[in-house]
Amino acid sequence: MTLSGVKCTVSNCKYWKSGENCDASAIQVNVDGGGASARQSEQTNCQTFQSKNS
Ligand code: SF4
Repeated sequence: MTLSGVKCTVSNCKYWKSGENCDASAIQVNVDGGGASARQSEQTNCQTFQSKNS
């Protein structure tokens, strides 16, 4: 069961499924470097990511 509405291109994440899908039960997205305010999408980051190789 993939997360409805989540599109992800991080294909080396162990939760990633083909078609840009994520099969984690939920994801956590944080601001790079901490805090609660980002200015650009590049400053946000999925913290649920886990490398397939770890
Ligand atoms: S956990 Fe995050 S990085 Fe991994 S597939 Fe899901 S959205 Fe992508």
